[in-house]
Amino acid sequence: MKNKALKRLISGLSLLLTSLPFFSFASNSSQKDTVTGSNYKIRTIIVDPGHGVRPPGATGNFSPGASGAYSFERDVTLAIALKLRQEIEKQLAGVKVVLTRSTSEDVAWQKRADIANENKGDLFISLHCNSLADRHVREIVGHKHHKPVYRTVDVPDRSGKGVLMLVYGFHRTKEEERAIKENLVEGELEMNSDPDPNDPAAMILMNEYKRKYRKQSIHLAELMVSEFTTDGRRIEGIREQGVLVLCHSAMPAVLVETGYINNPEDEAYLNSETGQNEIVASIIRALKSYKDEIEASVQP
Ligand SMILES: [Zn+2]
Repeated sequence: MKNKALKRLISGLSLLLTSLPFFSFASNSSQKDTVTGSNYKIRTIIVDPGHGVRPPGATGNFSPGASGAYSFERDVTLAIALKLRQEIEKQLAGVKVVLTRSTSEDVAWQKRADIANENKGDLFISLHCNSLADRHVREIVGHKHHKPVYRTVDVPDRSGKGVLMLVYGFHRTKEEERAIKENLVEGELEMNSDPDPNDPAAMILMNEYKRKYRKQSIHLAELMVSEFTTDGRRIEGIREQGVLVLCHSAMPAVLVETGYINNPEDEAYLNSETGQNEIVASIIRALKSYKDEIEASVQP
């Protein structure tokens, strides 16, 4: 019995040891690898304009997005995304941009994640506009037998203002693991079969990725927040949240709530050339810092 346990320990240890060369092989050979890598460069940025119009005849979950007094989130996000693509390709040499949506038609979130993973994105930037739900207010509409009569009315809540950053929180780890796994298999790892969830080496690698993505996503969000602050935008902060489209992207990912479309000031800003250009410029400055840091920190 004792022998058996020892045998198991030895085989466990040797598995761990064989996993080490595998680990460094993965880090050095994969261009996709944002953990380390001898000449890692950010080559592809996925820009994801939120929402859209339901395609004719399409079924399933589509979301039209929020609206303001005269504009729609889906139009604002697309306008900013197109400007962002143009500026990234102009200002970040050698970086390609892939849009998850380039027409007014919505694209299902799973498809957006697929586009990101298939194109081997190094970063995923999702663009949205925020909005507050109506408040339910009870008001007195009259009196009956000396007692007030109430009715409930919906009052628009226009108090929300400014930028909110979302990064993916670990609410859907299984799905994220699958996305990472698929990307690893399709990547340069030359694995013959899917990583086995019971294989410690594969799991160590996957957990490492997960940890790095989270860290890098938060860091990118922090850089963006500091740039938006420079522009005088009100900042609501960085929130970790289970966001479907983010958790399926096997790469660092942030979601930018660019402003509140149901706040009159923000709506005007979000629809203006000045506002859109400022938002794009902030994101570009953050991306430049991020890219420089990541590419400089790579170990030879
Ligand atoms: Zn949205």
